[in-house]
Amino acid sequence: MNRLLMNYRSFTATMLFVLSSAAYASCGDKGIALQVLGSGGPELTAGRASSSYLVWIDGKARALVDMGGGAALRFGESGAQIDDLDIALFSHLHVDHSADFPALIKASFFTDRKRELPVYGPPGNQVMPATSAFIAGLFAEPGGVYRYLSAFVSDKGAYRITAQNVTLKDDETREIARNERLKIFAAKVIHGPIPALGFRVEAGGKSIVFSGDMNGEGASFGQLAQGADLLVAHNAVPEGAQGVERKLHMPPSVIGQITGRAKVAQLVLSHRMQRTLGKESETLAAIQAHYRGKVSFADDMACYPLAGS
Ligand SMILES: [Zn+2]
Repeated sequence: MNRLLMNYRSFTATMLFVLSSAAYASCGDKGIALQVLGSGGPELTAGRASSSYLVWIDGKARALVDMGGGAALRFGESGAQIDDLDIALFSHLHVDHSADFPALIKASFFTDRKRELPVYGPPGNQVMPATSAFIAGLFAEPGGVYRYLSAFVSDKGAYRITAQNVTLKDDETREIARNERLKIFAAKVIHGPIPALGFRVEAGGKSIVFSGDMNGEGASFGQLAQGADLLVAHNAVPEGAQGVERKLHMPPSVIGQITGRAKVAQLVLSHRMQRTLGKESETLAAIQAHYRGKVSFADDMACYPLAGS
């Protein structure tokens, strides 16, 4: 074997080692951390799955927030275990926040999960199903599109998915779930005509808040985000957006105002789309006019451990 080939082989072996260890690195083995599984929106963009996040507690992924297209692959890459999930939360049921959920559930068939998986999300209206109807529409008999998996919504499976619709008043912030490790709070957010929720996950004395998709109207999200250690906000539209885009999403200046008023310690921008990618410096300037804390632009798999947790 010539030397060049040997060098190439050892280089390849090294690369494989690096890739596989990176692929299964968990997001911190101690304390509280946010991991971005999907930093994109509905577009099919290289390197960006649609919206999805994990909250890690002491080396285990405990809360899943949204599961857009591509998130199932990212979940596998993160080294997260389906057995470890305490809860799954849907900010809303648009495709880019929910499409990979059945892939996660099918994958769980091959795990040892025995305990219930509680799923929380918004109620329905004329344009969207309630979260319970979404789950039934996927898995329940008769009529569910994946009714071959109906054991997951009956007593016949290894475990059961239970769905809760979180109905809140406009100005309300409410605790919706808790266990020995975490507490979940929710507030209604405005995403055009789509029923939508923001979430706050509290664990180990730390708090991570998710805006989901929202246009910034309404007061309850500001309350939900108050004093958070980390806020994930969606950078789906640029400054100056008008019309439908603006009815659905908040521009950077509004993200800055909400984040500044809520005295959030750290801001992570996600749900990045073609119309905002490449505009990071103007986005940052519009935010920093109102907020002086740390701002990060998320990429898939980025891990944000919370100091002191
Ligand atoms: Zn979205």
